[in-house]
Amino acid sequence: MKINEELCIGCKQCVPYCPVGCIATKGGKVYINHDECVDCGVCKRANVCPKDAIYMPAECYEYPRAIRMQFSDPGIQHPNLRAWGRGTEEAKTNDVTAKFKRGEYGLLLEFGRPGTGTRLSEIEKVTLAMRGMGIPIIKDNPLYGLLEPDISGKFKPEYVNEKVLSAILELVITEDKLEETLNKLFPIFKSLNTVVSVGLVSRFDDNAELPVVKKLKKLGIEVRPNAKINVGLGRPLID
Ligand code: SF4
Ligand code: SF4
Repeated sequence: MKINEELCIGCKQCVPYCPVGCIATKGGKVYINHDECVDCGVCKRANVCPKDAIYMPAECYEYPRAIRMQFSDPGIQHPNLRAWGRGTEEAKTNDVTAKFKRGEYGLLLEFGRPGTGTRLSEIEKVTLAMRGMGIPIIKDNPLYGLLEPDISGKFKPEYVNEKVLSAILELVITEDKLEETLNKLFPIFKSLNTVVSVGLVSRFDDNAELPVVKKLKKLGIEVRPNAKINVGLGRPLID
């Protein structure tokens, strides 16, 4: 996103709307730090500019930059990748898709939200570590298509410095790898120049219990269980 300097009157009405704080003022002028901007479109959609000076220049639609708006603006689709938005909704409908089987956990790592955004280079520190442990990255996810086709966990060089508002990395781990995986991840999180929210997807056992909650508590991790029931989608996995 950019500001047309000839139209802008420096009223600063747009400044508080930027979720990553990249609209700045200098010498009485208001400008957008183009390298920090994630092209989310919030400043324009807020419709507060009295001069209609905020615009999306053509270069923001060109790759590799184009992925910024695809991850950051919920109204924009990824035309070349495998899914919409920042992650996939299947994680929330596991009762229908069975993406995560018995004996497995889904690990959903959300980078960049709230209010900081993230470079893909920060996410790469995690993808490299996870691939180094042999942990698969889910393919039906918009991040997957930005990775090198080998299984190294490296992003393609043209994308690695791109910045997005947030992105969700989806992994599958076997139950026995939980402690080892978290022990690997937490020190990496501390070194990142962004924030990470960790979601763990677990199926109920035959006694309608979630043993993973106790396991996590033993590891000193406080959890906030959050369930979703998809009424109306049927129970195709009942067998
Ligand atoms: S497009 Fe989004 S990130 Fe860029 S200046 Fe506007 S609000 Fe900030
Ligand atoms: S709202 Fe419009 S006129 Fe006011 S500072 Fe922002 S871009 Fe300039």
